[in-house]
Amino acid sequence: MAELVDDAVPSGPGDRPVTGAPEQVVVADPPPEPDYPRYRVEPGEPARLAERDPDETERYARKKDVAGELATARKRIADLQARLYAEHRRSVLIVLQAMDTGGKDGTIKGVFQGVNPQGCQVWSFKAPSAEERDHDFLWRYHQRVPPVGMIHIFNRSHYEDVLVVRVKSLVPEAVWWKRYEAINDFERQLTAGGVTLVKFFLQISREEQRRRLQARLDDPSKHWKFSSNDLAERARWEDYQLAFEEALTRCSTPYAPWYVVPANVKWFRNLVVARTIADTLAAMDPQYPAAEADLDRVTIPA
Ligand code: AMP
Ligand code: MG
Repeated sequence: MAELVDDAVPSGPGDRPVTGAPEQVVVADPPPEPDYPRYRVEPGEPARLAERDPDETERYARKKDVAGELATARKRIADLQARLYAEHRRSVLIVLQAMDTGGKDGTIKGVFQGVNPQGCQVWSFKAPSAEERDHDFLWRYHQRVPPVGMIHIFNRSHYEDVLVVRVKSLVPEAVWWKRYEAINDFERQLTAGGVTLVKFFLQISREEQRRRLQARLDDPSKHWKFSSNDLAERARWEDYQLAFEEALTRCSTPYAPWYVVPANVKWFRNLVVARTIADTLAAMDPQYPAAEADLDRVTIPA
């Protein structure tokens, strides 16, 4: 794969270097945009979920149109992760939230292929146990925060405590209302301790959820994923949209931004997530530790 060069400009098909011009830099794919401001929820601004299009695929029409860029992004993630692991100074926490069938599992599978499993761990959060409920709501998440060198992925997260908990009134409003601030404090504290957070809301439409639930009914190999509870949750669709709107608006911060990923089209969703993670890691610029002195004089005994 050709090296990506920072300021290389993508050339159209058929472009040829002009004789005498400086040698043209060859890139495998158009370089990624520096980050994804258009999908980021700007801190202090409303998330405006209703104005976003979950069908968005930018300039791409088919899965094969993104294959090269997705491969490049995965390779960047793998290379940067190797450095992060070796550097052993900082860590990354990726938060994935979505409505049921939104594609959290598929994203993990599609984006983290090729990453060294030793440096990456997935934590899935279900309804809390009795022991977890007996602690403050952040307790179980804090235990799963990545140590230095590691990337941890939260498949559902502390945000459930202002999403499902709010929608189903599992605690009084006076309790969940204070949690947005608690979450921001928690994330600020993590950031100060060397954790880089990146949070994704995979946005699907109500109609796309219907199709995916139907697919789970139609395909016996997907029956295990179907829960009648999903229908009860689906009935509260609007309440969930409101809860997501509030969580993303109140908790997208300069130190821990939220990204709203168009997720009706799975391959585009994977591309956006992969590129955003690659760009986040690149901005951290993890470095291999310095070698011991005089390695060039070392000989390995027979
Ligand atoms: P799934 O991800 O399909 O395995 O479902 C996990 C379930 O756990 C979902 O219905 C979530 O709403 C629920 N869940 C996750 N976190 C919490 C929480 N903090 N409080 C209550 N329910 C939760
Ligand atoms: Mg489920």
